[in-house]
Amino acid sequence: MSIDNLVRPNIRGMKPYSSARDEFQGEAQVMLDANENSLGSAGPARFNRYPDPQQRAVKAELAKLKGVAPEQIFLGNGSDEAIDLLVRLLCVPGQDSLLVLPPTYGMYEVAANLNDVAVERIPLTSDFQLSPEIVAGVLASKAKIVWLCSPNNPSGNLLHTEYIEQILRGFQGLVVVDEAYADFTPAPSWTTRLAEFPNLVVLQTFSKAWGLAGLRLGMAFAAPEIVGYLNKIKPPYNVSEATQQHALAALRDAPRFELLRQQLLTGRDWLAERLPALPIVAEVFPSDANFLLVRFKPDATAVYNHLVGRGIIVRNRTTQPGCAGTLRLTVGTAAENELLLRALAEFNA
Ligand SMILES: *Cc1c(COP(=O)(O)O)cnc(C)c1O
Repeated sequence: MSIDNLVRPNIRGMKPYSSARDEFQGEAQVMLDANENSLGSAGPARFNRYPDPQQRAVKAELAKLKGVAPEQIFLGNGSDEAIDLLVRLLCVPGQDSLLVLPPTYGMYEVAANLNDVAVERIPLTSDFQLSPEIVAGVLASKAKIVWLCSPNNPSGNLLHTEYIEQILRGFQGLVVVDEAYADFTPAPSWTTRLAEFPNLVVLQTFSKAWGLAGLRLGMAFAAPEIVGYLNKIKPPYNVSEATQQHALAALRDAPRFELLRQQLLTGRDWLAERLPALPIVAEVFPSDANFLLVRFKPDATAVYNHLVGRGIIVRNRTTQPGCAGTLRLTVGTAAENELLLRALAEFNA
């Protein structure tokens, strides 16, 4: 499969913007090439220079951590930017389609709608899995991109490896595996399989286990050819200097990351153990993420409103395909988890 043939013809032929920082890299005495303010910055910190458009320092650290080459890493303003860029890279507006497997993350469809790209939907099974029939449907599709979210949001489960493999081998377009929750599962990342599959893109993020949602930093791992195309079409300075500096500091603070991760896993287990004992809970779905999808016996929206009344906000998923009667509960601090459990226990139908 050739990536060139999947890419929109106008992008194949397009000449990317060449920024001042692309044209000159390194240390100079006098930098008067980018219309920056050489005097300094307003505010408490100095950010008067444009950031590295290729984020080399961050990618060097990430490459070590993830066991990939820097050329296999794209960094964006959240994974949401990578999602939007992938749609714009491959899908001709008003002509092409992409394929989603609901219930799943909402941004794939938003990016499609924004870019006038049609959405094909093949629902997951009732236990939120792939199946031979679903795989057959995916392989028959002419969509340019199929989005596989694993662990899946909002259901929390991993999609079966063999089915993803079958899709990677047989699908005619790009296969995106969104691993926003990869840090909460012992399963190996699909980044370990990049060499086998030239049509694979793996998304990860600093927004969840790293605790840096406010920073906006997302990662896409793929063949250098795909990363090159994403770099070609991204806004030149899409990751700010503040973000790059902070990400570097976070990457050097692995013990803190590991502690946060372990505490969230402990909190997830704590909730998963106790929620099923509540009389209002019908089902707690198995989770490889930092949240639990829970089906309630009473009207889930009434439970949701009861929690809001206690100042506790969870995500109401009742209207999502296959998710009738469910709320998605994010794992919080130990104290927050206790408040949540107590509030649920005090719900009177
Ligand atoms: C949270 C989440 C993301 C992360 O998006 P960012 O833009 O990196 O914050 C991506 N995909 C899924 C499925 C998510 O749940």
